Amino acid sequence: MTTRLTDGFQLVVDALKANDIDTVYGIVGIPITDLARTAQASGIRYIGFRQEASAGNAAAAAGFLTRRPGVCLTTSGPGFLNALPALANATANCFPMIQISGSSDRAMVDLQRGDYQDLDQLSAAKPFAKAAYRIGRVEDVGRGVARALRTAISGRPGGVYLDIPGDVLGQALEASAAADTIWRVVDPAPRQLPAPEAVDRALDVLRQARRPLIVLGKGAAYAQADGAIRKFVEDSGIPFLPMSMAKGLLPDSHPQSAAAARSLAIARADAVLLIGARLNWLLGHGESPQWSAEARFVQVDIAASEFDSNRPIAAPLAGDIGSVMSALCDAAAAHPIAVPVEWTAELADRRARNDATMRQRLTEDPQPMRFYNALGAIRAVLQENPGVYVVNEGANALDLARNVIGMELPRHRLDTGTWGVMGIGMGYAIAAAVETGDPVVAIEGDSAFGFSGMEIETICRYGLPVTVVILNNGGVYRGDEAPTGKDPAPTVLNARARHELIAQAFGGKGYHVTTPSGLRSALAEAIASDGPSIIDCELDPAAGVESGHLAGLNPTSAVARRPARDEIEPNR
Ligand code: ADP
Repeated sequence: MTTRLTDGFQLVVDALKANDIDTVYGIVGIPITDLARTAQASGIRYIGFRQEASAGNAAAAAGFLTRRPGVCLTTSGPGFLNALPALANATANCFPMIQISGSSDRAMVDLQRGDYQDLDQLSAAKPFAKAAYRIGRVEDVGRGVARALRTAISGRPGGVYLDIPGDVLGQALEASAAADTIWRVVDPAPRQLPAPEAVDRALDVLRQARRPLIVLGKGAAYAQADGAIRKFVEDSGIPFLPMSMAKGLLPDSHPQSAAAARSLAIARADAVLLIGARLNWLLGHGESPQWSAEARFVQVDIAASEFDSNRPIAAPLAGDIGSVMSALCDAAAAHPIAVPVEWTAELADRRARNDATMRQRLTEDPQPMRFYNALGAIRAVLQENPGVYVVNEGANALDLARNVIGMELPRHRLDTGTWGVMGIGMGYAIAAAVETGDPVVAIEGDSAFGFSGMEIETICRYGLPVTVVILNNGGVYRGDEAPTGKDPAPTVLNARARHELIAQAFGGKGYHVTTPSGLRSALAEAIASDGPSIIDCELDPAAGVESGHLAGLNPTSAVARRPARDEIEPNR
């Protein structure tokens, strides 16, 4: 009788499939090429990229969108290292992701004998991941995958590194014995219910408030507890403010949205319920004068270590957002919260005024176009296509689009997130298209696009319904800084660049537009085509401000010349 054998390659695939992983993002090379082949042959969709950071970013975005870890596959050494920023970014953003990397022979690496692409990858990954594991023998493949999956998704999600040396992938094992080493993780992200007294404490704080406010963060979007969150917001009547990736969890057009009165809401709120949002730099660390010194904070988070990170949390609610919001709804039903009408009227008044200013800005028609005019055109098209996924990165392109482009559906906006990182654009766009099959519009600054631009080829190769709109003002921040010598100024790129030709080079559609009406018709056509395209949108090189809304974070030289800050928007 012949013994049927299997090997490490097949076992990795079997373990992923046993845990419902149906897509892998990566780049092949030594020693994982056959892993990608085996995955594809076994029915896993393999999406091959041009640079590992984009594959990692795609896996992270897939994790955010699906609440299952996205998987990224990398080669040893440099391939592994290229994906580390994405692993770190996933961890910073609390997105579940697993980077599986092939690695060189341990015996060679540990004695530093100079192997091909040798690197102590496990140690290198540790500071950037929620956890890092290495599989040392083929019998442990199933265990390693289960452990990586459980760690990535349970509690506060994050990036997990899983190292598999090439020789382990090649090891053989008797097939029937191997089958017993694979298992499916049961209840990978168990519910965590809040203590009843914590729920009562939180409701007491909110009931005593004169000016309560709810802040929805991307943790709330990730949690997929949309019904319970909406019920609590609407039953309580408390105004809400979405962080950028929580936009659409409740529609931006919702009457309780305080987004268009953001600075007023923050400055005046006397009780704040944070739902899956951290009091980090994106919320001014909760400090005055941005926030009222008197404000009391209630925070819902699965990670209790988050509480008190910046400001005292008067009522911490440790638990998963779905369970906590249901408990809050139940407990509030008996004794409803009443929001003073003066507060909602004050916010409504500011919102109406800011909306009017915004409308006026969007209808201006300067030649050449500026950010607001382009974004007004994009907004009009997206209002007719609310199911489109929006990816957004850049400085001004990010700050202004976040305010101008409203979202109606949850988890339909992906952006630079917790780190404000550039280069996520094409990876996130690819994942959104692959995971959902729906059209994606990536709104990109011309500088931001450059970080992952070669993935246009990936988008075209897989025929993905991704439209990349490049808001091209020819520079980092803006493109009109005068040179001081023979070279372009540090912030200057190429305002005459015709990015649409890149899409055409790979078989996609390309548009070059110079007016809002041209942009509007090109974008409508591109979305309807259901395929890849780039719209190069020529803007005034003088449009934009240095560091966007983050100018305050940028130490300025007393000597260097600074361009005028002429497009700062009222802080909304
Ligand atoms: P934003 O940048 O939108 O403000 P953050 O990334 O700062 O959002 O915060 C997200 C928070 O959500 C993190 O502190 C994370 O621990 C928390 N979180 C993620 N998933 C859940 C969940 N299912 N239940 C509770 N909290 C969660």
